[in-house]
Amino acid sequence: MQVTVEKIPDPEVHAVRPCSLYTCTYRTRNRALHPLWESVDLVPAGERQSPINIRWRDSVYDPGLKPLTISYDPATCLHIWNNGYSFLVEFEDSTDKSVIEGGPLEDNYRLKQFHFHWGAIDAWGSEHTVDSKCYPAELHLVHWNAVKFENFEDAALEENGLAVIGVFLKLGKQHKELQKLVDTLPSIKHKDTLVEFGSFDPSCLMPTCPDYWTYSGSLTTPPLSESVTWIIKKQPVEVDHDQLEQFRTLLFTSEGEKEKRMVDNFRPLQPLMNRTVRSSFRHDYVLNIQAKPKPSTSQATP
Ligand SMILES: [Zn+2]
Repeated sequence: MQVTVEKIPDPEVHAVRPCSLYTCTYRTRNRALHPLWESVDLVPAGERQSPINIRWRDSVYDPGLKPLTISYDPATCLHIWNNGYSFLVEFEDSTDKSVIEGGPLEDNYRLKQFHFHWGAIDAWGSEHTVDSKCYPAELHLVHWNAVKFENFEDAALEENGLAVIGVFLKLGKQHKELQKLVDTLPSIKHKDTLVEFGSFDPSCLMPTCPDYWTYSGSLTTPPLSESVTWIIKKQPVEVDHDQLEQFRTLLFTSEGEKEKRMVDNFRPLQPLMNRTVRSSFRHDYVLNIQAKPKPSTSQATP
């Protein structure tokens, strides 16, 4: 069986490369692999893996895609913790209090947790890219299909089990609502530390524009199950450099271990294979393709 070797990003190697050239091009040089990937360094090559590079001009507008409806109850927010790979804010999910519906989804999906991926510097960090552009960080809001499955763990392994909303973070002004999370990070610096984090509505972290891309993909951490309907918001939200620097003060390591900064906690891009990325919004790349070629010998593409 064909296998793909997974490695955690090496900032020293990555620093000289643009993100678009980055897929599978790096190999660690005697550097420790993040423990999360140690037991799965040989991953069966799937056909619907994530993340991917979204090529705007190749995405297909689907007028049948409905608006996504988000309804979160701030009271379902439980705690924030460092799981040794990211920081997660988790939610009470025994009932349909915090759910999303519509968009590409047939069922209601319950919010389980949200977390982020980010880089060692501001030049990269997102898992998905758009036309090979990296953002410095990406937010993932993870939901599970409580209509078809008994619990999150079962849903995470099966088709149509999960729906993840991805939101890009770009450099700009300070994000006031995000700052509430950032202020909590010093108390969860080490792996496996957890503090209460009540009454938070993560819809405050969403962009205002409703436009999104959607495709069928996978978890981006082991077990890499191909269970995810991805909903990637087109519009990024702004955060400032200091907020991203605070993310980088977290540690992959537990108290007492040799400190390793929590940075570059994203998976490399995966091939699109035989998949289509659909967009909820019209875009004019179709017009470019249909335009008559200019009477020129130039073969430059639009
Ligand atoms: Zn994620």
